[in-house]
Amino acid sequence: MIGLISATAAGAAARDRLAAAWPERTRVYDGPVADAVRTAFAECEGLVCFLATGAVVRLVAPLLDDKRTDPGVVCVDEGGRFAVSLVGGHGGGANDLARAVGEVLGARPVVTTATDAVGLPGLDTLGLPVEGDVAGVSRALLDGEAVALRADVAWPLPPLPLAAEGPYAIRLTDRVVESAGREAVLRPPTLVVGVGGSRGVPADEVLGLVGEALAGAGLSPASIAEVATVDAKAGEPGIVAAAARLGVPLVTYPAGELAGIEVPHPSDAPLAAVGTPSVAEAAALARGGELLVPKRKSRRADGRPAMATCAVVRRLGRGRLAVVGLGPGARDLLTPRAREELRRASVLVGLDQYVDQIRDLLRPGTRVLESGLGAEEERARTAVAEARRGHAVALIGSGDAGVYAMASPALAEASDDIDVVGVPGVTAALAAGAILGAPLGHDHVSISLSDLHTPWEVIERRVRAAAEADLVVTFYNPRSRGRDWQLPKALSLLAEHREPGTPVGVVRNASRADESSRLTTLAALDPATVDMMTVVTVGNTATRRIAGRMVTPRGYRWQDGREAAQ
Ligand code: SAH
Repeated sequence: MIGLISATAAGAAARDRLAAAWPERTRVYDGPVADAVRTAFAECEGLVCFLATGAVVRLVAPLLDDKRTDPGVVCVDEGGRFAVSLVGGHGGGANDLARAVGEVLGARPVVTTATDAVGLPGLDTLGLPVEGDVAGVSRALLDGEAVALRADVAWPLPPLPLAAEGPYAIRLTDRVVESAGREAVLRPPTLVVGVGGSRGVPADEVLGLVGEALAGAGLSPASIAEVATVDAKAGEPGIVAAAARLGVPLVTYPAGELAGIEVPHPSDAPLAAVGTPSVAEAAALARGGELLVPKRKSRRADGRPAMATCAVVRRLGRGRLAVVGLGPGARDLLTPRAREELRRASVLVGLDQYVDQIRDLLRPGTRVLESGLGAEEERARTAVAEARRGHAVALIGSGDAGVYAMASPALAEASDDIDVVGVPGVTAALAAGAILGAPLGHDHVSISLSDLHTPWEVIERRVRAAAEADLVVTFYNPRSRGRDWQLPKALSLLAEHREPGTPVGVVRNASRADESSRLTTLAALDPATVDMMTVVTVGNTATRRIAGRMVTPRGYRWQDGREAAQ
C-alpha cells in the first residue's frame, strides 16, 4: 500500500489525482501531518508526501530504521512539478515510485541515488543477495576505478563496467568466502536443496541437516534457490516450514518422475513409502545440475532414527536471450519494454546500423557484437551461443525483430536451455500505414519481394493468391539495385484483379529524419521511386483516397449501416 499525505488544498488536489489513478494501491492519510506520516510510515511500503522536502525530512528522520525495511518516501512539491525520491531509493523502491508518480502527475522524477544517475545498476538492485563491501565497490564503479569480476558460476548479470583486474572486485559465487574489504559478494540462486522426511519430521531437524550439508561443502545458504521434494511431501509441515524459513519456494515432483532419475544412492525405504528409490537426490537433480552434496541423513541427539535426508545440487545459470524490435526508427516509437531489455543486456548483438540507432541507451560496460549486412546466420548463432554461456543477451532488429528479421534464425538455433523473451516492435507496414492514413483497415498481408532466400515462383504464387483474395498487400524489400523487375511484375499481377486507379502508398524511411511518402495508383506508380528503404502498400478493391489519405473500409457493408457496429 502507498500512503498519501498532504497539508494544503493544492497538495490535496494532486494527492486526489494520484489516488484516483491508483485506487487499489493507495490510501489517503488525513489529519495532522506529523501523525499521518508516522502512521503511514508504519503501515505502508511507500509514502508520497505532497509537502516540501524540508518538512518531510524533519518528519521521517526520527522514524528511519533500516534501509532494507523502511518504506520508500517520495516528495511532490505543491506545484506538482517534481517527484523527489527522498529516502529508500533502492530498497524502499522510492526511485521507481518517483518515476511512476511522475508519469501520473506529469511531474519530473528527481533521483539522486548515484548509480541511477549515471545509468549503473546499484549492486543491491540486481535481484541477487549481496554481501561484503557493497558501498565501497559501488563507489569504485561510479568513480571509474577498476572493478574485476570473479565468477565461480555463470549467471546472467546486467552490464557492469568491469575490468580484468582491479583493486576492487565483485565475487559471483555460491561458496562461503572470506571476504576482505573492497569486495562485494553477489549470491546467485544456484543451489537446489532436495529433502526427504518421514511423517512428522520437525522443521528444525530439516534445517539443521541443510545447514550441516551446506557448511560441510563450503556453500552459502544465501544461494539457495529452492527446496525440492516429492509430491507426497508437499504438505509435510516440517518441510514446508523449513522452506519458508529459508525464504525460498518448495517445489515438488511426482514420484514417477523422480523414480526415473539416475542417482548415486537409491534405497528401498522411500521406494516402499512414496514409490521412488530416491527423494532428496532425485528431487535436487530433477532439473539437472551437478550433485555437490550427496544424500545425507540427519543426526538426532536422542539416538532415534533420522527423519530427514538432504542433497544439494548446483544448477547452472540460465542465459537469457531477448529478441528486441527497435521500431521503424524514431526514438519515441521504441517501446519502454525494448528500452528496458536493452539496458538489461550485458551483450548486445545486431546489425551495425541498428546498433547506432540505440547505442546511447546501452549501459556502460555492455559488450557490443555488431556486424554488417548479410551476416544474419552468424548473428543468430553468436546471440544464442552467448546466452548459452549464461549471459543476458539482446538481439536487435528494426521494426519488429520477428518480421523478416532475426527472431526466426535465432530461435531455430536455440535449445530449451536458455530463456527467450520477445519484445514486439512497430513493423514498417504499421509505421507506413499510420503515415498513409488507414490502408490496413481490412484484411491484409505482407509479402517480401526479396528472392535471395525465396524462389521467385513462391513469391509469385503468394502475390497471385493475395490478388485473388482481394487482400491489401504491403511489399517489404520491394526493390534494390540488382532486383528491379520484381516490383513491376508483382504490381501487374495485382492489376489483373484491381482497377488501375487503386490507391498505392509508398513510404520511405518511415519515422526517420528523411521520411517521405506518396499516395499514387497502381497505374501511375513509378517503380524507380522505390528502394530498399521503402514499403509499398497496395489497396484492395474497396480502398479509396479520401482527403488525401488512403482508407480501406472496415467492410463493404460497414459504413452504410447494414452491419452492426462493434
Ligand atoms: N523487421 C523489419 C523488416 C525488415 S525487412 C520490420 O519489422 O519493419 C527490411 C525492409 O523493411 C526494407 O527493405 C523496407 O521495405 C522495410 N522497412 C524497414 N524499416 C522501414 C522504414 N522505416 N520505412 C520504410 N520501410 C522500412
